[in-house]
Amino acid sequence: MDKVAFSSWNGKIIDNRKGKASKALKSAGVNFPELPGKADALMGWNGLVVMNPKADVVSLTLNYLKEARKISCGECSVCMIGIDKIIDMFELMTEGLGDQGALAEIERIANEVSANAKCAFGQSALFPVSDAVKYYKKDFLDVIKGGRKIDAAGYRSAVTAPCIEACPASLDIPGYIELIKNRRFAESLNLIREKCILPGVVGRVCTHPCEQACVRNYIDEPLSIRLLKRAAADFDLQEGGGSLGGPRTAKKENVAVIGSGPAGLAAAYNLRVMGYGVTIFETFPQAGGMAAVGIPGYRLPADILSHEIDLIKRMGVELKLNTKMETLDVDRLKKEGYDAVFLAVGAHKGNPMGARGEDAGCEGFVDGVEFLRDINLGKKIEPKKKVLIIGGGNVALDCARSCVRLGFKDVEIVYRRSRAEMPAREEEIEGAEAEGVKIMYLTAPLEIVASEGRLECLGCVKMKLGKPDESGRKRPVPVKGSEHTIEADMVICAIGQSPELPVVKAKKKLSTTPWGTVEVDAVTYKTSVEGVFAGGDCVTGPATLIEALNAGNEVAKSIDAYLQNAKPEKGISFKGVEVGKHRGDAFVGKKAAGKVDLLDSKKRIKSFSEVEGAFAAADAMKEAQRCLRCYRVVVWQ
Ligand SMILES: Cc1cc2nc3c(=O)[nH]c(=O)nc-3n(C[C@H](O)[C@H](O)[C@H](O)COP(=O)(O)OP(=O)(O)OC[C@H]3O[C@@H](n4cnc5c(N)ncnc54)[C@H](O)[C@@H]3O)c2cc1C
Repeated sequence: MDKVAFSSWNGKIIDNRKGKASKALKSAGVNFPELPGKADALMGWNGLVVMNPKADVVSLTLNYLKEARKISCGECSVCMIGIDKIIDMFELMTEGLGDQGALAEIERIANEVSANAKCAFGQSALFPVSDAVKYYKKDFLDVIKGGRKIDAAGYRSAVTAPCIEACPASLDIPGYIELIKNRRFAESLNLIREKCILPGVVGRVCTHPCEQACVRNYIDEPLSIRLLKRAAADFDLQEGGGSLGGPRTAKKENVAVIGSGPAGLAAAYNLRVMGYGVTIFETFPQAGGMAAVGIPGYRLPADILSHEIDLIKRMGVELKLNTKMETLDVDRLKKEGYDAVFLAVGAHKGNPMGARGEDAGCEGFVDGVEFLRDINLGKKIEPKKKVLIIGGGNVALDCARSCVRLGFKDVEIVYRRSRAEMPAREEEIEGAEAEGVKIMYLTAPLEIVASEGRLECLGCVKMKLGKPDESGRKRPVPVKGSEHTIEADMVICAIGQSPELPVVKAKKKLSTTPWGTVEVDAVTYKTSVEGVFAGGDCVTGPATLIEALNAGNEVAKSIDAYLQNAKPEKGISFKGVEVGKHRGDAFVGKKAAGKVDLLDSKKRIKSFSEVEGAFAAADAMKEAQRCLRCYRVVVWQ
């Protein structure tokens, strides 16, 4: 879709209708949504784009209005009444009852709605309608004169928002926030669960990219989207925890899911809803993957996770704990009745740091994820005097803050770059510092120094920052002659993880990448082995819960298509499109984001109790009122 007859996208008019439609719109510096397959024209919040000069812009406009009407909430009435009025005028036109004045009236209504609507959706929704009437006047007049019918068939539509686009699982964020605003917590939770089956977990520890994309960033502060999700989940739990319902239908096929992390759980839930028999095989005695054996309890209490897993089990998903699938014998699984396999084994093998002596297996040198797993699985850990944690990511921070809680006297993170490059979330770094964790920047490990099999100290070198590397972060370069040692009773290595894949026995080899992750088809999540799908951290490398949940959701659809011999459908893509900006100048009053209390830093270091508090119902409703409802509707044919 790179040739256009007309475009008003972003307010930039490109009109090739008189000559040949030969100018490439994208080369004119305008990005618009990428549509699946060949399309004649599209209409969205930011304009009208016509590829085929024969496209019926009047029909497109009516279909756009009908889709926009579904999103109009009626809260401020302005856009709902305006859209209804314009749709009525279209109907009069088709009955030959319209007149030329109707077009001026449509433009007037569209301008009024843009100027007076309260939310960002209402303020932006009717720009393209004005464009259509203005630049395709003759086509509208043809209809008014009764010369042509309006076609309602063959149109497709999509709805997004800046926060939805930023969310890896595309949750309907404005939708669930609006329900909270109206105290409809249970309905809000149902909407969240359509794409996020661990709402209480994600409401606590999601990395919330949605908040970075929130349009309120341009005005005051982003909405506390994560905490609102948590509010919906917490209120449900307070009301008794409900249930997820049962499968919608029964199917004869069964699916084996290897791994009970967020990817495996999301796939299991969705497949079960579709009616498949699902069995999850899990190595550890606790289900939940890294949410169970990685993330510490002071950020994510175990009972929140186990409640959400219980709901999935109650739907009839079978969970086989303490069952490590060392070998994945695809033919054997088939004989046992499994028609498809989902490999969701995560990334649990700690990466080496490349220091001398790290392979010697000396006492006192431990891997970060193993350390956190031991704590989560209840192993007794004797606190030491001095512990050094290598790494600057969230796992390093989790190790450090856990050490404080275990009673280690002196906890220090060793990181090879400066604070500006630290990948850990700012709130985690601040939390750790408040708890007394020290951070030694620009220092890299060189050697694990041990005596008689017992750690003595860490050999290190000072670093300085050089030119940026492939990641865009400044490359750390050793400072000559700055080698030194730091005494420690324990060194924890937390510099990343890789997958530990089972041996796959099948006709074809399981394809993997040079990083040891599983290679999959980007749309279907199919691996090189027939009937085996993969997703989550074992495909992406260490990522986030919400990305893993999304992979599970998508894999379920793909396995369903595979088992039913259907073709998975490709949807619209907003990649590269500025979803956050629209052509109106919204007037919005400033209002700071709602905050929750944190457990006092002196109290919280004494236990693994949850640090972050929750919104009370009234506070959640108040925060929800700050949502600008930046829904964007796109219709195309
Ligand atoms: C310490 C730590 C803190 C984190 N904090 C956050 C955070 O705050 N926010 C966030 O969004 N993300 C966080 N993450 C990342 C997040 O937890 C992962 O991205 C996510 O859990 C990946 O989900 P997954 O289902 O792909 O894999 P996992 O959650 O790793 O689950 C894989 C499961 O497969 C099982 N398994 C592996 N091999 C086999 C086998 N052969 N047979 C049977 N079972 C097997 C494993 O035991 C595990 O239970 C954190 C990760 C860590 C390590």
